[in-house]
Amino acid sequence: MSNNPVESVVIVGGGTAGWMVAASLSNLFGKRLKITLVESSEIGTVGVGEATNATIRRFYGRLGMTDFDVLRATQGTCKLGIRFDNWHQKGHSYFHPFGVYGQEVRQVQFHHFWLKMREMGDQTPLDDYCLGTTLAMHDKFTTPSPNPPSSLSVFDWALHFDATLFGHLMRDFAIDKGVRRVDAKVSNVNLNPDNGFIDSVTLEGHDAPLAGDLFIDCSGFKALLIEGALKTGYEDWSQWLPTDSAVAVQSESVGEPHPYTVSTAHEAGWQWNIPLQHRQGNGHVYCSEYISDDEATEVLMRNIDGPLSSDPKMFRFVPGRRKKAWNKNCISVGLASGFLEPLESTAIALVETAIEKIRLLFPDKSMPQGCIDEFNDMTRLEYERVRDFIILHYHATARTDAPLWNHCRTMEIPEPLAHKMKLFKQRGHLVKYRWEIFQPASWLALYSGNNIYPEMYDPRVDTFDMNYVRKSLAEMKKSLQSAMEPLPSHGEFIRKNCYYR
Ligand SMILES: Cc1cc2nc3c(=O)[nH]c(=O)nc-3n(C[C@H](O)[C@H](O)[C@H](O)COP(=O)(O)OP(=O)(O)OC[C@H]3O[C@@H](n4cnc5c(N)ncnc54)[C@H](O)[C@@H]3O)c2cc1C
Repeated sequence: MSNNPVESVVIVGGGTAGWMVAASLSNLFGKRLKITLVESSEIGTVGVGEATNATIRRFYGRLGMTDFDVLRATQGTCKLGIRFDNWHQKGHSYFHPFGVYGQEVRQVQFHHFWLKMREMGDQTPLDDYCLGTTLAMHDKFTTPSPNPPSSLSVFDWALHFDATLFGHLMRDFAIDKGVRRVDAKVSNVNLNPDNGFIDSVTLEGHDAPLAGDLFIDCSGFKALLIEGALKTGYEDWSQWLPTDSAVAVQSESVGEPHPYTVSTAHEAGWQWNIPLQHRQGNGHVYCSEYISDDEATEVLMRNIDGPLSSDPKMFRFVPGRRKKAWNKNCISVGLASGFLEPLESTAIALVETAIEKIRLLFPDKSMPQGCIDEFNDMTRLEYERVRDFIILHYHATARTDAPLWNHCRTMEIPEPLAHKMKLFKQRGHLVKYRWEIFQPASWLALYSGNNIYPEMYDPRVDTFDMNYVRKSLAEMKKSLQSAMEPLPSHGEFIRKNCYYR
């Protein structure tokens, strides 16, 4: 048996990624692992990242935090999904919920029954069979029932939060568990001349370099260790994801917060509106080839309701991923590992799955190559699958009014996405992979939101009595409506349960 355990971990970077890693590792290993986090208050963090995926709740749940703890501490609101305005066509809107449509029967997915009913002339929208979407469209909210037969058990939810406050929550937790925080700039990364591993980092104003067995690079877009020192390489995906810039600004809240993010397509990109308890986050993600920074900022300002409460902040990025997320004794997490535009709020979710894999494959000092390869393979698949899901939003558009949309509508898409779309179009089949953040229901939301329907439904549907199916669907729709009606509005729910104090 190997008896060469990792004793010390150095995390470089104290943004959301760095402190989430620190909180998780300290929670898992306690004081048996010496964890030091270096961050530079002079440099600061990226300071955006307000919308999450439902998996965030499992993440902080494992740290012993409740939903209400986190909502309260971060001035958060509840997110049932994303409303996409003007994406498919100007004036058209669709919703991507967390949660399922209808119910699978004898292993036949619900949408096949819906497709047959549609073929028989029933015009009921698929959304009417989804509680998450129904709640969102009525601005209602409650937490899901833990009782599976209840109509209120069939949806999931995530959070909108103040990213800085969430970082503080993670930081306080980690420090409480024994993580040492050093506020200093890393000025050099020192490699071992024999094997190229990272030995230590030099810190400005400190005499001795900071040594470690395992280094986690959470230094953001700079990727100081994984790229700056180890020259790992980056795979650029801008041929499929042409947006390369963003401008973000905060504004005062106007009216009650919606329980969802709004994503509005513009001519050269799209805008987010994220409601928090105390303010709204807004941003315009755009392609600099088609619009200047000044024009992009103007478009954003024209589409914000309340008075501004911060100065606009600009970002530039290259969509893609680090060729190896784990190289030698360095694992990159967060922006250091790659960047996919925030359309589906996946960056923090990818931090969670990176932490999950670090937990699964935590090495000893020898850094077993098998663990490294497995980690890198899984990370590649996850990033590629998120990439493809985001590409679908653009590619499925029917817009013909601007060069960005014409490019995306007609471009050649990655082969795995083409394969998935073909399976859906030919047979209504929704592929489910293990290392994939988005489940079949999410893909279905995108397909139906963009009027992409299969050429056939599952033939097993023909073995069901259609009078029975019709009656069951009508009952399902009615029971979702009656489950929704008595519920509080999202604003009332927040005020009652988790108002920031
Ligand atoms: C426009 C935009 C919108 C986004 N929206 C979302 C969203 O809605 N949802 C979502 O999940 N994600 C979103 N993201 C991504 C999200 O912001 C990040 O993934 C997340 O905040 C993690 O960032 P990070 O910790 O990797 O990097 P950062 O926040 O940049 O942190 C980097 C850390 O490294 C430190 N550092 C850097 N250089 C040095 C040095 N030399 N010495 C010491 N320390 C150093 C910095 O001080 C900082 O502490 C968005 C990103 C952008 C750009």
